[in-house]
Amino acid sequence: MIKRRYDYIILGAGTSGCYLAHVLSQDKANKVLVVEAGALSKNPVFTMPAGFTQTLFDKNYNWCFNSQPEAQLANRSIYCPRGKVVGGSSMINGMIHSIGQVEDYQDWQASGFDLVEPQAVMAKFQELFPNGDELTKAESHVLESAFLNACEQMGLPGVDKLHEHQSEHVAGTYYHTVASGRRASARSLLPDLKQRPNVTFLTDTVIDQLVFKQGKVHTIKACKGNKKPFDIAVKGKVILSLGAIGTPALLQRSGVGRVDDLSPLNIQQVQDLPVGENLQDHLLVKRTYKLNNVRTYNSDAAGLSITKTLWDYSVNRKGAMTAGASSTGAFLSVDDNERPDTQVFFSYGSATDNGKALIADSFDAITIGTYQLRPESRGKVAITSQDPFSSPSICYNYLASDTDWHVTREGLKYQERLMAQPAFTTYEPEALVTDTDHDDYIRDYAETAHHPVGTCSVGENGVVDGDLSVYGIDNLSIADASIIPSIISGNTQAICAVIGNVLGEAMLARSNHV
Ligand SMILES: Cc1cc2nc3c(=O)[nH]c(=O)nc-3n(C[C@H](O)[C@H](O)[C@H](O)COP(=O)(O)OP(=O)(O)OC[C@H]3O[C@@H](n4cnc5c(N)ncnc54)[C@H](O)[C@@H]3O)c2cc1C
Repeated sequence: MIKRRYDYIILGAGTSGCYLAHVLSQDKANKVLVVEAGALSKNPVFTMPAGFTQTLFDKNYNWCFNSQPEAQLANRSIYCPRGKVVGGSSMINGMIHSIGQVEDYQDWQASGFDLVEPQAVMAKFQELFPNGDELTKAESHVLESAFLNACEQMGLPGVDKLHEHQSEHVAGTYYHTVASGRRASARSLLPDLKQRPNVTFLTDTVIDQLVFKQGKVHTIKACKGNKKPFDIAVKGKVILSLGAIGTPALLQRSGVGRVDDLSPLNIQQVQDLPVGENLQDHLLVKRTYKLNNVRTYNSDAAGLSITKTLWDYSVNRKGAMTAGASSTGAFLSVDDNERPDTQVFFSYGSATDNGKALIADSFDAITIGTYQLRPESRGKVAITSQDPFSSPSICYNYLASDTDWHVTREGLKYQERLMAQPAFTTYEPEALVTDTDHDDYIRDYAETAHHPVGTCSVGENGVVDGDLSVYGIDNLSIADASIIPSIISGNTQAICAVIGNVLGEAMLARSNHV
């Protein structure tokens, strides 16, 4: 039993958890404990940006969940990686920097999120991700110019800092959370945190359950990597930062959730809340086009070239190994609405997963992809066992509405129009898969963009109030992707950092040491 008194116990050292710990421990009087299932890994695969192709399926660093068969996707089960390492999913993600639209945060405010105003959320992105420091622009490649020219030919003007123009119909180069050729994840806060004597990290420790007494978390049940169980006594506040899958799963194991989810597992209900409901994600439809007359990333990663590519990276921190998941992109509306409803991703390479890693294809090719920014479909996370090591049931319920089908299908058609623009003619693009219609292509090939959110949503009918406190439990809050009421119009790492940061600031403002 750990009996030491902590003012704050943060469960999960992922994106939000690290940012939260960083703020809370700024006050030296606060004693902060951070508990994480994964390790504090020094594996260089995490620092080299292209290393994400290797960690995607690695059970040492990744929870490697799978969804239930998805009804609209030909009953395919969709693979759902989540980081299991200090730094969480920010250690295994594609590093594309994206901040959403101010309208997203106006919607959040309408849902009851009142920690900060929408404009203040936008200002937070500048504060936490200053350009030129944690953020760098992808290295340029002749095919990126072709993509940007094709966008121009489709009426999408180019902008610098694409992430600052997500409410417009524009194209540009993505910035990445990469600094000096290395991944800049939430782990980048670690050197600072480790120097602070008031922060303790407990790694390789899986949280099993919360035990409540008189409306408060009284004890945390945990187990070390070898499954040796132990308890942590709670004197102050507990904040869940286990992510959009881990947080609802822990709450349900602890009796917080819907009775229909709990009683089949003989779990006594402690608090009736819609835990695990409201799951949202971006459904990505990607297409590979073979090209001629150009050298793509695939050639740099093939045969003897990989040695030169790795050498270039280790000596100069340059080249293909500094690449994130996509180098250039665009925001647009497939229906000519003023507010963009679709995001485009383009990369000057293509890969196939072999179940262990992403392997560059053996021919020169590009990948183009689109997703609907604000899908209407809602899914669910529900545990199927009390075992903290077992995977919960994840049902994304993609494409449950006609609107979602329409925008997704039109996004795919837009890709085809882009690839047919004169800017690409020299490269003779040829789609790799040609023998299906649009709907079948989506059913057979669409996949997650890795942005599950919303399973412990903020709001009157949600799980947490506007201050991110769990309804009905005195000393329990949530800070991670699960509190997001409606998915933002873009990739989700930066907003998770903001969520951790703003909850930390709000808690500091009303600090009460134990
Ligand atoms: C493959 C991939 C690619 C992505 N690409 C991008 C991108 O390019 N750009 C972008 O902006 N976003 C991207 N994302 C999304 C983004 O990384 C996430 O939305 C964000 O990091 C989620 O932050 P979080 O704090 O909610 O959860 P996480 O960062 O996942 O942190 C949760 C932490 O809790 C720990 N945990 C969970 N359960 C337990 C337990 N029972 N006990 C102890 N610890 C536990 C986990 O190990 C983890 O460290 C990607 C995500 C993935 C997985």
